[in-house]
Amino acid sequence: MRALQYRSIGAAPEVVEVERPSPGPGEVLLSISAAGLCHSDIFLMGLPAEQYLGLGTLPMTLGHEAVGVVAELGAGTTGVSIGDLVAVYGPWGCGLCATCARGSENYCPHAAGLGIVPPGIGAPGGMADFMIVDDVRHLVPITGMDPAATVAITDAGLTSYHAIKAEFDLLLPGSTAVVIGAGGLGHVAVQILRAMSPATVVAVDMSQQKLELAAAVGAHHVLPSDQQSAAAIRELTGGVGADVVFDIVGSDATLTMARECVRVDGSVVIVGIGGGLLPAGFFSTPFGVRVRTPYWGTRDELVEVLALARDGLIRVEVETFSLDEAPKAYARLHDGDIAGRAVVVP
Ligand code: NAD
Ligand code: ZN
Repeated sequence: MRALQYRSIGAAPEVVEVERPSPGPGEVLLSISAAGLCHSDIFLMGLPAEQYLGLGTLPMTLGHEAVGVVAELGAGTTGVSIGDLVAVYGPWGCGLCATCARGSENYCPHAAGLGIVPPGIGAPGGMADFMIVDDVRHLVPITGMDPAATVAITDAGLTSYHAIKAEFDLLLPGSTAVVIGAGGLGHVAVQILRAMSPATVVAVDMSQQKLELAAAVGAHHVLPSDQQSAAAIRELTGGVGADVVFDIVGSDATLTMARECVRVDGSVVIVGIGGGLLPAGFFSTPFGVRVRTPYWGTRDELVEVLALARDGLIRVEVETFSLDEAPKAYARLHDGDIAGRAVVVP
């Protein structure tokens, strides 16, 4: 079968022939219908060897957003049938601890120690003709949904949903939410905020094209990202500042913006892995501000955010590519030249 692999540090990913895997006991083999490209892949492929090898192995089949059709069941696997269309829950945990029992496998404290890694970020991912899923609990049936339109819900949707859901206490009538970075995650975050909260939504991005997309999907205000953005947000909020700032870039520049535009007793949610640091504390963040770094999302949240998509309340803007075109799609994502999500349909 074909697989898109990151094969050597710093090199572009390549489409190669690899052996089709067979599912072991309890496992499921999916025939991939769609796999999404995420900026986190760009981040991983940009790491120097010592940092990358702490996270992953080489070669690695990319793709941590995946939707597929059940093609084969390992010995003793029950709960799904050949031919079922399913979405993959990616942040695999041990499945046995209290955290996993709550559905929060994304925060399983045992996964790293047990060598359990997500598909596409350690385990072979979905940018291939087939992939192995380790357990049926990591599958959500999506009968009738369009694979390419749905696949990014498993990360761009789930991560945004998880980040937003924990902020509902502050997203009250009259509140303001800022989304910095209106890319794959950000344009979905804007829609989740509109669908689930009464907050006024402000999107900030460096790209005019992304700001146009943010406005088209429901942002009340859009602002260019520059030295003036924080002051503009303060002005929009009558001098008070934003109740919640979702920084989906996470660079020093955007974290400074977040710190400067968040209100007293507000919240800064750092979703982007842009390598920046936000000094939290007195004389840095306003009084009462909380700072979180949410990672991906929980199993129950994936079912919920897929329901939002199925019911038409959120919609991912998608540009599709064949598997052979995937290296080109990654180059365009790297250059900031994808509006919404790039999706590979093998
Ligand atoms: P993307 O490339 O689709 O979108 C990034 C957007 O940020 C683009 O629209 C770009 O124009 C904009 N941007 C870049 N620099 C900016 C700046 N200084 N000010 C304002 N906007 C700026 O990326 P994506 O796939 O949506 O991922 C976004 C970030 O979220 C990445 O850092 C990614 O690694 C991270 N991520 C985190 C998690 C998590 O679990 N926390 C999950 C998935 C992705
Ligand atoms: Zn991702």
